[in-house]
Amino acid sequence: MSLVRVEGLSKSYAGTVAIDGVDLEIRAGEIHALCGHNGAGKSTVVRLLSGQESPDGGTIVVDGDPVELKTRRDAQTAGVALVDQELSVVPSLTVGENLLLGDRDAGWLNRRGAQRRRARQVLDALGLTHVRPEQPLSTLGLGERQLVEIARALGQRARLVILDEPTATLTDVESEHVYAAVRSVAAAGCAVLFVSHRLGEVLALCDRVTVMRDGAVVTTNDAAELTVPTLIRHMLGEAPETAPRSRAESGDTVLELASVRVPDRFGALSLRVRSGTIYAIAGQLGSGASDVLRGLAGLVPAMAGDVTVGSTRLRLADPVAAARSGIAFASNDRKSEGLFLDRSTAVNLLATRIPALSRFGLVGPRRWTETESRMAELCGFSDRQLGQPVGRLSGGNQQKAFVGRSLERPGTRVLLLDDPTRGVDVGGRSAVHRLIREAAARGVAVVFSSTELDELVDLADVVLTMYQGRLVARHSSGVPGDVLLYEMTHGVEPG
Ligand code: ADP
Repeated sequence: MSLVRVEGLSKSYAGTVAIDGVDLEIRAGEIHALCGHNGAGKSTVVRLLSGQESPDGGTIVVDGDPVELKTRRDAQTAGVALVDQELSVVPSLTVGENLLLGDRDAGWLNRRGAQRRRARQVLDALGLTHVRPEQPLSTLGLGERQLVEIARALGQRARLVILDEPTATLTDVESEHVYAAVRSVAAAGCAVLFVSHRLGEVLALCDRVTVMRDGAVVTTNDAAELTVPTLIRHMLGEAPETAPRSRAESGDTVLELASVRVPDRFGALSLRVRSGTIYAIAGQLGSGASDVLRGLAGLVPAMAGDVTVGSTRLRLADPVAAARSGIAFASNDRKSEGLFLDRSTAVNLLATRIPALSRFGLVGPRRWTETESRMAELCGFSDRQLGQPVGRLSGGNQQKAFVGRSLERPGTRVLLLDDPTRGVDVGGRSAVHRLIREAAARGVAVVFSSTELDELVDLADVVLTMYQGRLVARHSSGVPGDVLLYEMTHGVEPG
């Protein structure tokens, strides 16, 4: 029986069509997966179903009645609960208090006895028999917190529970607990909408699978009728053309990783990085791709193993040592790391050059202007942009300023870029790519992480795929996108 029906749902953002004419039927008692490559429109559907945003068109029908979900509270009243990727449980409160957070039913908030019984009931239902409602949530691990969030949805009598990548950052054991919880939620007659990039997990856990592509639903199938390769074919449509290229690795080894690891993040990784070569680490959230880069930049205290830059062994967990040895790192959150947002673009471009250009701490105006115009040309900035605070530039331009600065800095040997074009528009993206190629052409070794197939295939000379903290495979340029997607979402090489 259909519990939630979505008909002709559409939504645009400032002229960009995110989804258009989406139809979806979710049945009571089923675990329904929502799959699609990045940008397919999954998050938009989730936001509309959970009342975080309103659709431009279409209807949402719950139990036969059309509903308007203008706020999260509306969604809750209609029986729809979202278990977020970013947990919304509060560590400083007790488990019991977290279960009551945002509850519309003030009745059971006032009766402590009933409250405690209900908390016990939902915790037990999810196998959290060892957890006491009086216990501070901070005493639980990440996986258990995820379960508490599912328990909260149940406690609030949700009919449809939406899970957005619930296991992306969990260990295998923790994930198993979440699967068991999801199964018991469905067995109780609720519906589950399960958004995940882990395709093996999707096929093992879910009853039906809806695949989205380019803002529309491509197909809905019984999971039993699908395999990982067919699922990927639906996600990608026609296999993307990949121009075979023969750019191979060249140059001397500038960076060497031997058995480098971070507990609970990624296992022993050994790798040689050569100058003038662009390496990609392809991996979804939780794969460890981002952790490798952050670790090499000295930002992960728990990293262990041997890292050699040039012929010198690098002191781990020391960002200053990493920078001194010639490693430059741009995080995917440029706002908090990397640039001085309230200073002009020109100052940001030159920031790391000041010691080299100056005599007694002063930079002569001629040298300043010379360097400034050379860098402006390299990055393609106008005079107006140079004078503006860099924080006001678009994401793509900020990324260009960062890469440009690292290039100009004497001694940059390795450029690490964590998801360099996330949130960057198409134009900005090709400009960033051009600058990255320029860096490699000057002999810098570039290592970037990404999930975007086009970017991986177009830009990298070598692509390493990662899944759940393990290296899956290594490819040279020209590898087909569907092979990469298979490895990134399934953890094994296609047979
Ligand atoms: P998915 O969750 O499958 O990765 P999304 O729903 O996030 O896909 O995105 C679908 C499309 O809508 C993408 O092209 C994305 O760029 C666009 N989009 C999503 N949210 C916004 C937003 N707030 N502003 C502009 N475009 C957006």
